[in-house]
Amino acid sequence: MSDDRPDIPEPMKREVRQRCGFGCVICGSSIYQYDHMVEWSQLQEHTVENLTLLCGTHHDEKTKGLLPLATVQQANASPINVRNGVTEPYGLHYGPKAPLLTVHLGDNKFMAGVSVFPFFVDGDPLIFFQSTDDGVGLYVTLRDDYNRTVLRIWNNELIHRADLWDVRFEGTTLTVRDAPGDLRLVIRFAPPADVYIERAKFQYNGVQIDVKPTKVTVGGQTMSGSAMINVGTTVGWVIGDRHPEIESAFSWQDISRVPVKFGDGPPAVGYRQGVHVTDGSE
Ligand SMILES: [Zn+2]
Repeated sequence: MSDDRPDIPEPMKREVRQRCGFGCVICGSSIYQYDHMVEWSQLQEHTVENLTLLCGTHHDEKTKGLLPLATVQQANASPINVRNGVTEPYGLHYGPKAPLLTVHLGDNKFMAGVSVFPFFVDGDPLIFFQSTDDGVGLYVTLRDDYNRTVLRIWNNELIHRADLWDVRFEGTTLTVRDAPGDLRLVIRFAPPADVYIERAKFQYNGVQIDVKPTKVTVGGQTMSGSAMINVGTTVGWVIGDRHPEIESAFSWQDISRVPVKFGDGPPAVGYRQGVHVTDGSE
């Protein structure tokens, strides 16, 4: 490795991420490094074609000579996540029980000792965070204009569609973009007990929840910054149809909605273990 090697340009990295399905081309891991298939010392240049994604283990194996170049090239030609249409699950390390769980949603904070539900839409929580005897679990569902799930965290297990425009997982922050400058999600994981949703476009049944660092709007209405805390369960905003078992002081039944798209959209992410996925036809 040469000292004067320039950084890989960001647009090139994004192209490589997308082509590789946002994971190690061999095992699909969301924690990866950029690998020059033919060594930098031989080519002395960065090219999209010669770059691939490998997790730490596979990268080490390649460096040691245990993983031949031909095997990496074969995986690069048909990355596992691209074949599956969905990324391999990544397990977030929200582990042991914590005294106070906190969801930071833009300029709002929702805290509780056992369960935190920042908002429900038509009785469905798009985010929740809970502590059980097994430990702390984070749950997040991000849907598209067709009401189909594009990214899901289910009991700390992160998966997402492999054909998004960009997903970047650097440090503790996961960033999803639909197009240049068009952010769908910026989420920062702070185990053991905090999650920061800095930016997000949540949508469900035509209800749009737009999260920005200083403002959250629901169906176009601004929700002023608030902090809610309870010993047991905190329920933030109840939006749309009420559910008989969900009680909250903050309820909006008449919320403006945009039409949900129907037709030939991209297919929903295929989830394992019978996790329910709502598709646009329901
Ligand atoms: Zn790997």
